[in-house]
Amino acid sequence: MKDFRSYIPGISDPAEFGVFERSVHKTEKGEYVFTARTGKGDRIVAERSAGFKGEGFTGADGKEYVLAENCHENGELLRKLFPFTAPSPILSKQRTVGTGDRLGIATPGHLRAFSRFDVYPVLAQQSVRELNLTERDFENVLDCASRAVFREDYTRGWGADGDHLKTPEEVEYAISCGYTMITLDCSAYIKNVSAMTDQELEAEYIPNEMLENEYLTGPVKVSDALTVEMDMKTLMQAVIIYGKAIDFAAKIWREHIKGRPVDFEISIDETDTPTVPAHHYFVANELTKRGVKITTMAPRFCGEFQKGIDYIGDLDQFRAEMKKHAAIADAFGYKISVHSGSDKFSVFPSVGELTGQHFHLKTAGTSWLEAMKLVAMKDPALYRQIHGFALENFTKATAYYHVTTDLSKIPALETLSDAELPALFENSDARQLIHITYGLILTARNVDGSLRFKDRLYDLWNTYEEDYAALLDAHIGRHLEMLCGGR
Ligand SMILES: [Zn+2]
Repeated sequence: MKDFRSYIPGISDPAEFGVFERSVHKTEKGEYVFTARTGKGDRIVAERSAGFKGEGFTGADGKEYVLAENCHENGELLRKLFPFTAPSPILSKQRTVGTGDRLGIATPGHLRAFSRFDVYPVLAQQSVRELNLTERDFENVLDCASRAVFREDYTRGWGADGDHLKTPEEVEYAISCGYTMITLDCSAYIKNVSAMTDQELEAEYIPNEMLENEYLTGPVKVSDALTVEMDMKTLMQAVIIYGKAIDFAAKIWREHIKGRPVDFEISIDETDTPTVPAHHYFVANELTKRGVKITTMAPRFCGEFQKGIDYIGDLDQFRAEMKKHAAIADAFGYKISVHSGSDKFSVFPSVGELTGQHFHLKTAGTSWLEAMKLVAMKDPALYRQIHGFALENFTKATAYYHVTTDLSKIPALETLSDAELPALFENSDARQLIHITYGLILTARNVDGSLRFKDRLYDLWNTYEEDYAALLDAHIGRHLEMLCGGR
């Protein structure tokens, strides 16, 4: 392949010079900006006068160009010059799916899948936990997404989610970086009552005549199809479990969200107790009374939504409750958000159907698993090293994630041929082993301080970029197809 430095925009064939065809854009002033393969990852190349920071060179056309650094300043400039590369609040669209991109290289593959469906993507979607575990920050995650959107010329609109934020500082930081969705994690304010006796509940509950009059005087009509009925115990539970979380959400709304172009999601999913529909109604109604406007809410559904594997639980019960959750969300004018939604193939058709195709789903980390499958396919020796490292460090990783992985169900690698390695990614226990150890794998260092796996991994993913995009297109495409029911 010829070098991108010899490419003449508007004249040469982009593919011949390692330039992404769809990436060739002009600024309003007529300066060329495009994305090129450099052998060390994709980089933006621009005429110098466009203002990007980076190393300069003279192009084959005699003009001055810059090989733009992947810094935040250049990300800001890109979003200014080409507004479609900036995220926007899109959660009020019918169907939205958050993919995130832990590695900063998955978005082109994701976009291929999204371009085949009437679903809007949230391409940047990172929790503070994930940022810490991968040593990235909100700016970097957003910049990676913007560059990918530019490269693929994806002009339909996309969102950026500051996911599972827990403090006012985190919320403010994400919004100041340009995030267009805030997912407020209220778990620190949610009380676990599952071990409390009735006496303990009564002792903790502060009688509230207004609430009792409102909720206990008969069934509440939510919609034509749904009424919610509460007894004293259910009300006491609702107040004790969610009371402080509701106040916290209302304060964040008033002080940080109201009046700004941001979708607001309330997440009460990372708790021990499933959110029963009556409690969901209580939370929605109390938020509404406090003037809080949310775009999405993530209840904790019955059954288990563990990372990287299919749903574990009673599908009929899930369907019955999802129907009620969706009716409540509908009545209050927001939509249901399903978290840890990667690979939940058995519930996707129900989510699509029972929400009336009005949902948000967050996948997380499944693009990392596809990336590791690619390693198993292309560099079995490296995969074996990493798998061994993950087994040694598994217990450490369970501090961050709730999983029920049984390591004894993973076949010993020495019994598998190289060709059999990719099939490990069909084994739920092997998936979870690799899924939750990502942070440790990416940040592991040798004694001399160099990165143990990360550089080799990125080199491989860069070399097999096309194969990776094809894997993601198929994998996320399968999610979207099952959710949309072929729409
Ligand atoms: Zn969640």
